Amino acid sequence: MTITNAKSLQVVWFKRDLRLHDHEPLTRAAARGPTLPLHIVEPDLWQQPDMSGRQFAFLRESLMDLREQLGRIGQPLIIRAGDALTCLDEIHRIHGIETLWSHEETGNGWTFERDLAVLDWCRQQGIAWQEIPQFGVIRRLKNRRGWAGRWDRFMARPAATAPIGLTPLSKVEPGPMPEAHEIGIASDPCPERFRGGRTAGLDELGSFLRDRGEPYQKAMSGPLTAFDGCSRISAHLTFGTVSMRETFQAARRRQAELHELPGDKRGKWPGAIRSFLARLHWHCHFMQKLEDEPEIEFRCFHPAYEGLREENAEAVERWATGQTGLPFVDACMRALNAHGWINFRMRAMLVSFASYHLWLPWRSTGEPLARMFTDYEPGIHWSQMQMQSATTGINLPRIYNPIKQGRDFDKDGAFIRRWVPELQVVPEAYIHEPRLWPEAESALKGRYPQPIVEERVARKLAQEKIWGVRREPGYREIADAIQMKHGSRKSGIPQHERKADTARRKQQAGQGIQLSLLASD
Ligand SMILES: Cc1cc2nc3c(=O)[nH]c(=O)nc-3n(C[C@H](O)[C@H](O)[C@H](O)COP(=O)(O)OP(=O)(O)OC[C@H]3O[C@@H](n4cnc5c(N)ncnc54)[C@H](O)[C@@H]3O)c2cc1C
Repeated sequence: MTITNAKSLQVVWFKRDLRLHDHEPLTRAAARGPTLPLHIVEPDLWQQPDMSGRQFAFLRESLMDLREQLGRIGQPLIIRAGDALTCLDEIHRIHGIETLWSHEETGNGWTFERDLAVLDWCRQQGIAWQEIPQFGVIRRLKNRRGWAGRWDRFMARPAATAPIGLTPLSKVEPGPMPEAHEIGIASDPCPERFRGGRTAGLDELGSFLRDRGEPYQKAMSGPLTAFDGCSRISAHLTFGTVSMRETFQAARRRQAELHELPGDKRGKWPGAIRSFLARLHWHCHFMQKLEDEPEIEFRCFHPAYEGLREENAEAVERWATGQTGLPFVDACMRALNAHGWINFRMRAMLVSFASYHLWLPWRSTGEPLARMFTDYEPGIHWSQMQMQSATTGINLPRIYNPIKQGRDFDKDGAFIRRWVPELQVVPEAYIHEPRLWPEAESALKGRYPQPIVEERVARKLAQEKIWGVRREPGYREIADAIQMKHGSRKSGIPQHERKADTARRKQQAGQGIQLSLLASD
């Protein structure tokens, strides 16, 4: 079909929702009229300090896949590179847009501002912009009462079915998919990166729910087991190659299947699926915080922490490149850098080390870390950065001892040896603290740095400083208001995990270690 300026065109703006299945904007647009499926590669977005080449590579693979899927139903994806307003305006001038369709996006500050500008433009042009939720995140939420129930109901709703066919738009050039360097994205090697695209996403989900997932609850914590034991679905949720609803529904189907089995045939699967479902809640629970208060990307939830920590560019550099001289920290950072992914506990430990031992502001470490994550999701990332730095005011400070973490999760140092090959020669007894090895100087010959801080001293100092802030007059009143606005009424954590966590927290509090609430992996 040749579209004319008859203002009947439906434009579906694919942002981070790169699929046909469970894509309500596409389903509804296609039912209404000729539909132009569009992705805009925005060079300015990709210049933001939280965006990176590995994220773009994942996006690119996912877009190629989407283009092919759309082609199969009649109209391939149209790709334009440039500023969103300019691209939309050009399409509108030539073809006349009746309705712009998209999913709601809870993105970073840049996409938030861009969406405000697009909204303004739509109003001026008399174009309706239909934005439809894809996660359990609620726009203009008054308070958190009943949020978890609404999440459950949203996820249980039937998924939108993909249109069987789209009318081909013969006069619209599909447009090339730009390479990273063409839009100024710096080279970002990530040799072990997980693949983008829907097929890869469904494979991850399927293999987790059917084969890999049984030891999930235990395997998720340590870096040696987590790469296989976790779902690795996060980047697919971030770019929407697989929807949250279909992930939730697939896990629920698996749960029902397990229910049919005799008790002794279920193994550890029921607990694994319960924990997985709880974490899907957390995804949206954290994103809701950014949706409700976009400023948390830039400033502390609790103002008492503003300006508390000190900038130190050299320390950030050593931390981000795995050169702190603490072997387990460096191994985790290098593994993350090579994969674009690491498990939750190690992310939390890396941030804890930066925010407490190195006393660095979470904004300064949050940007390089965001760039390292292929699954970077601003709502989760910035909430977690603040939570692991105790600046939310509503989570107890949780300071990890990285040497103990190494001993707990990499007892014989196999993970350290893999990622910090300079330490291959260090005997097992010293692998977590090579500087204590009497032969360290002659054997390592300066190839591995001395620890950037004295671990115990830095931890104690940070503990004193952070608890000092918490005792300031007026602190509690503000913290209570934050809890009312952002705190979870129902965590989504299964009852038995909550009990185990409470017991662990009590025990560790007795040992003078404080744990945060939702962060218990
Ligand atoms: C400092 C820090 C930054 C983080 N930044 C991100 C981010 O940018 N993007 C991101 O997707 N996750 C982030 N997380 C949360 C978590 O580490 C990842 O979601 C998880 O490791 C992804 O691996 P997976 O898909 O195998 O997770 P699984 O354990 O298999 O869990 C399944 C899904 O549940 C959700 N989920 C799991 N744990 C959490 C959690 N603690 N908080 C919120 N959602 C969770 C994710 O969507 C995940 O894909 C961050 C955590 C920390 C401590």
